[in-house]
Amino acid sequence: MLMDQITSSDEQELGRKLFNCMSDLYPICRSITGKGVRDTLLRLNEVVPLTVHEIPSGTEVFDWKVPNEWNIRDAWIKDAQGNRVIDFQKSNLHVLNYSVPFHGRMSLSKLRNHLFALPEQPDCIPYRTSYYQENWGFCLSQNQLDELADGEYEVCIDSTLKPGFLTYGEVFVAGNSEDEILVSSHVCHPSLANDNLSGMVIAAYLARYLQTQPVRYSYRFLFIPATIGSITWLALNEEKVSKIKHGLVLACLGDSGYMTYKRSRQGNCLIDRAVIQVLKQQGDFEIFDFSPYGYDERQYCSPGFNLPVGRLSRTPHGRFPEYHTSADNLGFVSPEQLSGSLTTCLEIFDIIENDRTYLNQNPKCEPLLSKYDLYQTIGGSEEVPRFQMALLWVLNFSDSKFTLLDIAEKSGLKFQDIALAAEALRHHGLLKDLSD
Ligand code: ZN
Repeated sequence: MLMDQITSSDEQELGRKLFNCMSDLYPICRSITGKGVRDTLLRLNEVVPLTVHEIPSGTEVFDWKVPNEWNIRDAWIKDAQGNRVIDFQKSNLHVLNYSVPFHGRMSLSKLRNHLFALPEQPDCIPYRTSYYQENWGFCLSQNQLDELADGEYEVCIDSTLKPGFLTYGEVFVAGNSEDEILVSSHVCHPSLANDNLSGMVIAAYLARYLQTQPVRYSYRFLFIPATIGSITWLALNEEKVSKIKHGLVLACLGDSGYMTYKRSRQGNCLIDRAVIQVLKQQGDFEIFDFSPYGYDERQYCSPGFNLPVGRLSRTPHGRFPEYHTSADNLGFVSPEQLSGSLTTCLEIFDIIENDRTYLNQNPKCEPLLSKYDLYQTIGGSEEVPRFQMALLWVLNFSDSKFTLLDIAEKSGLKFQDIALAAEALRHHGLLKDLSD
């Protein structure tokens, strides 16, 4: 199984790599289009070779159009003495993302219409965007805003917004089957760590790992700008959609919270059950029903597609105060949480990869397991070991109606134990694999 080969020292090493990759990506000013996305994909390409797609502005994608490409070099507000009181070079969150170019002078009272702050979190710079309505603006902490004296300011946004491309990355890992598992993460946020550098680096390292493993399913990884990216991919790849049998949107996976999962719109698909089975074994967790708000699951689960795609997160968007502010920085995430999220994904894939249906070849009463070296011969010990319990569950419910995941759910045992027991029983001729 995928998880079998990962030791705890591998996990530590992995956590460091994930965190280092995030640190490299953190300063880049990303948006839904432009150089920031390209530079991000270039760095991820060092982790796993990916195909970069460039879709021209104006391309019609269902009810939407690929927008003009946005790039930014600099932005600032200068006081009367020429000091940069707000400086894009210090934080790319300072510019309203997708701001149109602007240069001029104005009074503070006029400038205020273009300033965004968070009075409840006076130290934090908010993250704001204006993708589909042309505007310009600056985001700053309430403390910075309070320090601005009345008077005239010079304002500059050195950006361009013109026809270009929407850029996204894709990795395809071919398995034995053409059936696919989709893994999608958004790559459009500027210097924000948990949302969603965490998702994209975990996806990249998952792809890298799966490339080295024999896998039953094919895996498709998408590194896309939120909303317009998934809409674009779905519109231009409709013929591939029917191959997607399971999927996960990865977002907000590096914070110290426990794991949470938002079900697919279908609600109880194999992916939903596999995630819940894994999270149950980890202690605290929370499951949310599907709602038509959130990340790209909104598009994958729109009624015309209704794909079996759920969303895996730790603390979900909007439920941590650092969300969409400068406090969602590298200090808010940790290597341990990142690697823990990645191995959780592998455990989920392990279930999907190994869920099979077997038929008990000795269904009339239990087989004498000690004959096959499968059962402890000394009876009466207080606790039946886990493996032996798993053998009994698998034998009893392998009547062709129940899969291994069904049996794991019924028994409360770990899927991995159930799968190991099934493999041992099959090896001794006590089970027949009905899946192929
Ligand atoms: Zn976000």
